[in-house]
Amino acid sequence: DSITRQAKVLAISAQSAPSTEDAAFSVSQVLSAIERGEIIPFFQPKFCLRDNRIVGAEALARWQHPTNGFIPPDSFIGLLEQSGNIDQLTLSILEQSCQIAAGWYQQGYNICLAVNLSTVSLQNKALSERICSIVEASGLPNSAVTLEVTESAAIANLGYALENLTRLRMRGFGISIDDFGTGFASMEQLRRIALTELKIDRSFVSTMLEEKESFAIVQSSIEIANRLNLTTVAEGVETEEQRAMLSAATCHHAQGYLFSKPLPADEFEKLLQNIEPS
Ligand code: C2E
Ligand code: CA
Ligand code: CA
Ligand code: CA
Repeated sequence: DSITRQAKVLAISAQSAPSTEDAAFSVSQVLSAIERGEIIPFFQPKFCLRDNRIVGAEALARWQHPTNGFIPPDSFIGLLEQSGNIDQLTLSILEQSCQIAAGWYQQGYNICLAVNLSTVSLQNKALSERICSIVEASGLPNSAVTLEVTESAAIANLGYALENLTRLRMRGFGISIDDFGTGFASMEQLRRIALTELKIDRSFVSTMLEEKESFAIVQSSIEIANRLNLTTVAEGVETEEQRAMLSAATCHHAQGYLFSKPLPADEFEKLLQNIEPS
């Protein structure tokens, strides 16, 4: 049936994931870094293309290594996923970023926090309860948190994943499909998952001015999203030409180096204070 077929597609995409042997760190090194609080969220703003206001902040994990400087998430996320430890990172980043964003929320900034959720975590049946209690403890309303579901590993049990996502949506969280167009989302899944947002992958945004195929994908993604009443976000916007093209194609929000790179919490707060009236 279609679920088995989708699980197979996802299993194939997982084979290209970086193998544990190539990793520069061991799982226990990464886990103790999480415990020591060395892995922290940076925040990248999402901007509204209509009025240039900041509408959201995506939390992106950074390992502040005592000797090696900042280590990007791609060097440790695959390792945690393959060893069954990705939940520790997800929940730690969720907790830290909710506490920080709750402060902004209390200052009157009406922005939505986005946190990345590995599809591996969706296999954990208790996940939605743990997410709810962390967000509740922070004081942020669930409706101010969007969970971005990334394609990064095989879904062993698609039923659990759909159940978790449906439960989270029913509790008021936003659900975003990340890297849209790169494989995870079939039209079938778009229909079945209670989504609120669709993020167009950077690979299409970065080539859409030169390749008409890329632009066609960007434009049709926006059209599908509009019909399904989903918010559209373009990621990896680096040039003014891309911004103008996305704006003309009626994309709602955009993220990328043109606007801002991911920032430490205090710098993100300065950005909010500089361009947003509180
Ligand atoms: P993603 O969710 O697709 O995040 C976007 C990535 O693109 C980020 O890389 C961001 O820094 C980068 N980026 C943003 N704007 C631009 C741009 O204009 N140009 C270019 N070239 N890049 C841009 P980052 O922070 O290295 O994160 C990589 C991936 O790691 C993320 O991709 C996400 O899938 C994953 N990730 C990050 N933090 C977490 C986390 O806390 N939990 C989980 N499960 N995954 C995470
Ligand atoms: Ca993301
Ligand atoms: Ca993405
Ligand atoms: Ca991406």
